[in-house]
Amino acid sequence: MVGAGPVGLLLTALLQSVEGFSVRLYEKRHEYTRTRMVQLAPYLVADSVESYRTDYIDGDSVEAIFDPAELDEGLAFRQSIPSDLMALLRGWTSGFCPLNSIELEVSDLIDARGSSALQRTAAVVTAKDAMAMLEPGDVLIDCTGARSLLRDHLVPGSEEIDGDANTLLIRLEYALVITFLYGQKYDCDEYCKYYKNIENAHYKFIPMVHRTHYDGSVSHVTGIVNITAEEYEAMPSRFDGQWLRSDFPSVAQSMDRFIDKIKEETHGEILGDLEIIRIPLDLYRARNATSRKWLTAGPTDHPLATSPVFLAGDSAIGSPYFQSISLGFECAMYLAGLIAQRDLPLSDMLDRYEQYSYKQWLRVYMRSKMIKHNKDLFESLDDSLALLEKLHIY
Ligand SMILES: Cc1cc2nc3c(=O)[nH]c(=O)nc-3n(C[C@H](O)[C@H](O)[C@H](O)COP(=O)(O)OP(=O)(O)OC[C@H]3O[C@@H](n4cnc5c(N)ncnc54)[C@H](O)[C@@H]3O)c2cc1C
Repeated sequence: MVGAGPVGLLLTALLQSVEGFSVRLYEKRHEYTRTRMVQLAPYLVADSVESYRTDYIDGDSVEAIFDPAELDEGLAFRQSIPSDLMALLRGWTSGFCPLNSIELEVSDLIDARGSSALQRTAAVVTAKDAMAMLEPGDVLIDCTGARSLLRDHLVPGSEEIDGDANTLLIRLEYALVITFLYGQKYDCDEYCKYYKNIENAHYKFIPMVHRTHYDGSVSHVTGIVNITAEEYEAMPSRFDGQWLRSDFPSVAQSMDRFIDKIKEETHGEILGDLEIIRIPLDLYRARNATSRKWLTAGPTDHPLATSPVFLAGDSAIGSPYFQSISLGFECAMYLAGLIAQRDLPLSDMLDRYEQYSYKQWLRVYMRSKMIKHNKDLFESLDDSLALLEKLHIY
């Protein structure tokens, strides 16, 4: 396993308790220090098909994309997750929580189990190193995140051609992600998003609000503000509210108007500083999430033709709008379930993982396109003609 971010760590914790396996986990960071707060989807701990489908945007897609047997298999796997790990998952899905806590808690759990079948190494692994390490019977899992170590190596001949040949990328928009903690219980539905933005003709502040996992009276607010490609280029990657106010006053005014209305309504204060980053909101997937193509390429002594490789987490699929870790965890659970089936032929394992990750991609693709479409309509709600231009009926 290369990469001990949230997905690599979860997979390690899942495989660690599978009889007959040993895991070698490589990570280049020496310390976990990430500051971002993240939200995990409640479907990760669902115990019935109904609770797996409660998300109002993709509930129907789930039924359309997955067979009932697949959904049942996923739920059965959840039931088999060791209780120490399941308790962590339940905690993380109860509200926004620090990514750092997720990483530290699962990392500590792995260490505390004290298994001799686990070896952790702090090292930067190159693609060449990873391939050179492979021995018969090994499975290599790339959890190295969006800039995946092996995504571009999974198709024979791809080293000689354009580096992105195995990646499908859709850029949805450029956005500012503005984050703060608010010292009161605060919730925001679509009416609230509309009325608090009523004076914001442009740069509408679209919040994602949720309690924090540790305290029901502290709300975590992450607002997304759409910006142009030119504005994106003109901004540093990370800055604070003061910088925004002096360099992009009209964006800051929209944000401040929204925040003032929250305060007026709930009489609370912002705890700490505003944190602002600018990012492209990308949807992408590895066209091949396994080394399946090497297996069918004919006789060769290339290491990927004999040892299976899987991409998991952001190395396989990426999506905006607070969904990626959940998606990565979902695929990780499925992969752990496949690997644990010792009698499953390798080609079946690769095919099934490809198919499953493709279905999860379809799900997140549809959900993300729907969110983006709704956001676009929202921007024009008070301008009927502009709104009609964005509607395509038949
Ligand atoms: C502002 C922002 C907010 C977000 N909010 C949310 C949210 O609310 N909910 C959500 O689900 N997602 C959110 N995400 C996305 C989420 O952070 C990622 O999806 C998640 O971190 C991906 O996990 P991963 O384990 O696949 O990869 P990563 O977290 O990227 O971990 C990869 C690991 O591999 C290691 N590594 C990389 N290369 C090597 C190498 N060559 N050798 C050894 N080690 C290596 C890295 O050090 C790292 O530890 C957000 C992202 C951003 C930018």
